[in-house]
Amino acid sequence: MTITRFAPSPTGYIHVGNLRTALMNYLIARKNGGTFILRIDDTDPVRSKEEYVEGLKEDLTWLGLKWDRVERQSERLDKYRVAADKLREMGRFYEAWETPTELDLKRKKQLNMGKPPVYDRAALNLTEAEKTKLREERGPGVWRFKLDQERIEWNDGILGDISIDAASVSDPVLIRADGQILYTLASVVDDTEMGVTNVVRGSDHVTNTATQIQIMQALGGTLPSFVHHSLLTGPQGEALSKRLGVLALRDLRARGVQPFALLSVLSRIGSSDPVELRTDMAELIDGFEIGHFSSAPTKFDVEDLFPMTARYLQTLPLEAVADDIAAIGVPDDKAELFWQVTRENITTLQDLKGWWDMFSQGAEPVIADEDKEFIAQAMAMLPEGAFDETTWSTWTAAVKEKTGRKGKTLFMPLRLALTGQASGPEMAAMLPLLQVVKARG
Ligand code: GLU
Repeated sequence: MTITRFAPSPTGYIHVGNLRTALMNYLIARKNGGTFILRIDDTDPVRSKEEYVEGLKEDLTWLGLKWDRVERQSERLDKYRVAADKLREMGRFYEAWETPTELDLKRKKQLNMGKPPVYDRAALNLTEAEKTKLREERGPGVWRFKLDQERIEWNDGILGDISIDAASVSDPVLIRADGQILYTLASVVDDTEMGVTNVVRGSDHVTNTATQIQIMQALGGTLPSFVHHSLLTGPQGEALSKRLGVLALRDLRARGVQPFALLSVLSRIGSSDPVELRTDMAELIDGFEIGHFSSAPTKFDVEDLFPMTARYLQTLPLEAVADDIAAIGVPDDKAELFWQVTRENITTLQDLKGWWDMFSQGAEPVIADEDKEFIAQAMAMLPEGAFDETTWSTWTAAVKEKTGRKGKTLFMPLRLALTGQASGPEMAAMLPLLQVVKARG
């Protein structure tokens, strides 16, 4: 049974980088008929906000990524304490009192001597009397996990064989001086107790994984398989983090990006599979292969989401957009035609309003000097009242007859006079939607 989890910290809104992690975990679970857990990593009571918990559920729901259950770390604190006690009994947990400034100083010294800035384990050498004294002077210390200083190895689903020397990693702090349980411990306990089989996360977690493997082993848990995907960069390879504000899912939603555009792009970029529009979840699931992803940083261009959105909209029947069309004031009896005419000429649904404004209020005519007389003649022949689907052909035939113009010299000036644009949907289809002709003068 495959069990995956998406484990955001509710300290901000989901952005495209998180979405890639969420999607990979979701798709692996669904592809294998498994379980997808939404785990809220909220052990930090100050930075975690309920507003973000709601926000991330909203974003996942908008995308159609249904989770099978929600787990909250803040409701599982007693389990983490039990695990901490176990580590303490095993002698794998020790208290340390260095202040951040002291640690910083140590790191600087090490770096000056050309050594890696790894915690020197000074606290391991404290006598009981020294510990009591420190506790009196400084209060409770932090709790560090004592790594076994050997190589930690695993076969990563994307990165391949990984080998990390534990001696090059600081003993991780698992409990803060104020008693707050940190993610590293909480995540290990959860992954073990929830039977998570596949941990998929960004490559910024590789060192975490090394330490978590040792903690899991110490607690007697079964190791899941680990996959670390590359991080997204901007189109020029620049770090994406600087622009995360712009790339929050809710901002993309507000800009009119469609869920399937996001899903199609983010479930395939960085893999050897083509990035194509997919319009249903089953297709996204079937074709997903985690083994096809590359370890190289993955370029992401937010602008790619817009042509993909346009292509998606072209596939939609009227029913799918009827509410949006009604909302901008298009009467029911014109909705079908309006959608036929506009759907290949919009990027997002937000562009519909511009089209309806044009049809309902009329476009500013564009008339070249040499066409002035011709347009005046043509307008005099344009029927009064509502147009129908035959109006364009009957009218242009009559105008041709009268003026002798034909082909482009006939049609283009008429299009420019009626719509103000040199290109766009078929004139025959647009005319019945056009309520006002400003070019009539
Ligand atoms: N809360 C962690 C994060 O957002 C989860 C990492 C993990 O998947 O274990 O980075």
